[in-house]
Amino acid sequence: MNTLADDELPFESEMLDRLAEVSIRVGLNLQPGQDLIITAPVEALPLVRRLAAEAYRNGAGIVTTMLSDDDLALARYEHASDESLDRAPDWMFRAMAEAFDNNTARLAISAANPLLLAGQDPSRVARAGKSMSLAAKPAMERITNFSTNWNIVSYPGLAWAKQVFPDKEDNEAVAALAEAIFSISRIDNEDPIAAWKSHQETLTKRQEWLNEQDFHSLHYKAPGTDLTIGLAEGHAWKGGASTAKNGIECTPNIPTEEVFTTPHSARVEGTARASKPLVYRGTLIDGIEVRFEAGKIVDARAEKGEEVFLKLLDTDDGARRLGEVALVPHSSPISASGLLFFNTLYDENASCHIALGQCYSKCFRGDIGDDPEAVSKAGGNTSNIHVDWMIGSDELDIDGISKDGGRTPVMRKGEWAYE
Ligand code: ZN
Ligand code: ZN
Repeated sequence: MNTLADDELPFESEMLDRLAEVSIRVGLNLQPGQDLIITAPVEALPLVRRLAAEAYRNGAGIVTTMLSDDDLALARYEHASDESLDRAPDWMFRAMAEAFDNNTARLAISAANPLLLAGQDPSRVARAGKSMSLAAKPAMERITNFSTNWNIVSYPGLAWAKQVFPDKEDNEAVAALAEAIFSISRIDNEDPIAAWKSHQETLTKRQEWLNEQDFHSLHYKAPGTDLTIGLAEGHAWKGGASTAKNGIECTPNIPTEEVFTTPHSARVEGTARASKPLVYRGTLIDGIEVRFEAGKIVDARAEKGEEVFLKLLDTDDGARRLGEVALVPHSSPISASGLLFFNTLYDENASCHIALGQCYSKCFRGDIGDDPEAVSKAGGNTSNIHVDWMIGSDELDIDGISKDGGRTPVMRKGEWAYE
């Protein structure tokens, strides 16, 4: 994929300047002297260059960029031996972990072709995925437990755009995806920094209400879903900005619409049907239906991509249990766009979702989150995976259930019931 000069981009290049400004100043809240690691596909270079410039303007120490490329990734799946897939560059993730321990910030650009690996042998995809998850653990852990400030933003890549807008010509598809990304990322207005401030205030109010309620569990009811999700002891709801352990308040996801917390890994009962397809490592998994008993998925099927989904559930002991529960109103800008983005960062922010696997240790009150043993005692799940999937729709009702069994409406027909 060649990268385009500014005047060849099928959208206003000035929008990339705004996106870079929001990413560095709101997303990362990069501090003077801080180093930064950026990972991005080659195609996103017009944005990467602006991010680096904006980072240095804000006093960055060293900006290190690691680029990836779809064809390079495919070369491995198509030509490497099976044994090669059992290995991953663990040295690189150890180095990243060392950098994070030394206060380096982390920025990821999401732009890749969502179905890149769709035609590959699922067992080879699973094999490579497993070794990659294991190798990446030292770096991933520091992201999920917020050792440092981090941010993820998107760039309208061509293959991604063609997936979202299959009937449009190349340039029109990129322009349409760019417009959606810029609007949903709240940068298509006069003052994006102020827009993010007011959005954060809304998210903070929702968290505060949920934290006051201190529900014991949530009960979900929708077609195909009758699910009770116990919440971890001492759980705390979070949303939007978070203070990382290095003391810097960052807004990790751009966009973000969710408030979320840690479920109890042993107290989930009932059935859940996904309301949107899930794209996992390049495979589309659609029509997911699962049944939980004592926190664990005991029955699972999918209409499409079932083999990959079942392999995902067998990744490790924690892969069949929940690590996150998140609330997003159905009227969020992403749902309102009516688009399926084939990208979790977008699709998870369209609707209420749950995640299989690792929990966020920051979603606890007091100092529980600092001690992995206290986290698992409180019900927090451990796994090498964290995979979000959507169960929200305009047919979803959620009740909060208190310890004494009292019920409070939380959502009705996919919208906040108390607002
Ligand atoms: Zn989430
Ligand atoms: Zn998640």
